[in-house]
Order: sequence, then structure tokens, then C-alpha cells
Amino acid sequence: TEEGEAVVAAVAAVAERIEAEREHLTDLDSAIGDADHGGNMARGWAKAADAASDLEDPDPETVAKTVGKTLMSEVGGASGPLFGGSLVFAAAELDGGITAETAVAFAETYLEKVQDRGDARIGDATMVDALTPAVHTFKKSIEVDDLPPLEALAKAVDAAGRGVAFTVPVRARKGRASYLGWRSVGHQDPGATSTLFILEEVLAVSA
Ligand code: ADP
Ligand code: MG
Ligand code: MG
Repeated sequence: TEEGEAVVAAVAAVAERIEAEREHLTDLDSAIGDADHGGNMARGWAKAADAASDLEDPDPETVAKTVGKTLMSEVGGASGPLFGGSLVFAAAELDGGITAETAVAFAETYLEKVQDRGDARIGDATMVDALTPAVHTFKKSIEVDDLPPLEALAKAVDAAGRGVAFTVPVRARKGRASYLGWRSVGHQDPGATSTLFILEEVLAVSA
């Protein structure tokens, strides 16, 4: 479907952006982790873009599922199962195509899965800090403010950016960064940052 092709194009855009930010993400992870987040994500998204473009007559659910499975097997580390496994699970919400309603359901399910699997909450200085305000803002913009999906997505991206900034002054409570204790304060979380980049690209290709 045309919608499926649009999702494939979005995946390609994300892969390109992550590749462009590879060193940036590696630098962030080298300060508070093991310096592999850029490489992990670039490898995973490149393979995911290949797998998505190999699909014949793709639909959104199949593309999302394919990308999720590829990220799960290729990204590795703590973030691979979180990005990938949650995507596989949330993909099912797109089986009727992409509408404002299914997009909200997808976003909420994705966030729930990340929280279930990683057991991080807002303020732990992880990807959850970017994701939670993005998903809440998206849902509220659609369901309460009745904004068009694109405007809702733009607000969600802004919220994710503020979430990323919030990871800097708080102490990490999950993942490798938490081993640093108070020394993690003052550093921006790599997974929150890559989450923001992904959302920025989805917005850019949708606009
Ligand atoms: P690893 O830490 O295994 O090397 P990555 O470097 O690829 O994995 O990813 C690190 C990112 O994963 C962190 O910046 C953080 O955002 C995210 N992360 C780690 N543990 C958790 C968790 N339990 N819940 C949510 N996110 C997490
Ligand atoms: Mg790492
Ligand atoms: Mg690692």
C-alpha cells in the first residue's frame, strides 16, 4: 500500500539520520556507558532499512514488525530489546492502517512495553524520559485538543526534546549509566537522544 511505502521511506530517513549521528551518540555513551550506542543503532537501523525495502507490497504493520525484529537481533545491548521488542509489539496496533486513533494506540503500546521491559520510569535518565512526554503530548493533542496529527506530532517532538534536556541534570537509575551513581549527573542520555532523532525524522518525512 501507499501507506506502507511511506513507512518504508520513514525508516530509510531514520537510518540515514542515525548514521549521521553515529559519532554524536557514541560520544554521549562514552561519557556514561560503553561507547557503543552509535554503532549499535547505526548497524541496526541500516539492516532494518534494508529489510523494510525488501518487503513486497508492504503495509504499515508488517514494516513496523520487520523493523522491530531486525532491531531486536542487530542492535543488541540494553537498548536493542527495548527499541525492537516494543516496536514488534506495538506494530499490531497498525493493522487497520495509520489514522490518528491507531497512531495514538501505537504510541501508547510502545511506551508501555518499554516501561514493562526496562522497568524505568520518568526521571531515571533513560529513553523513557524522551518517550513519555512525547507520547502523552501526542495523545492529549489528538484526543483533547483535537489537533491535526501532524501538529500533534510536532508538539510531541518538542516535548521529547525537553525530555532529553531533562536527562542532563538528573542521576541515572537504570542501565550502565546508573553504575556511575552521582557521576552520571550532568550528562545527556544516549537512548533518549536517539529516540528524539527518530521522532524528528518521522515528523520530517510526514510534513
Ligand atoms: P548498553 O547500555 O547495553 O551498551 P546501548 O548503549 O545501546 O546499550 O543503550 C543505552 C541506552 O539504553 C541508555 O542511554 C538508555 O536510554 C537505555 N536504557 C538502558 N537501560 C534501560 C532501561 N532499563 N529502561 C529504559 N531504557 C534503558
Ligand atoms: Mg552502550
Ligand atoms: Mg553495550
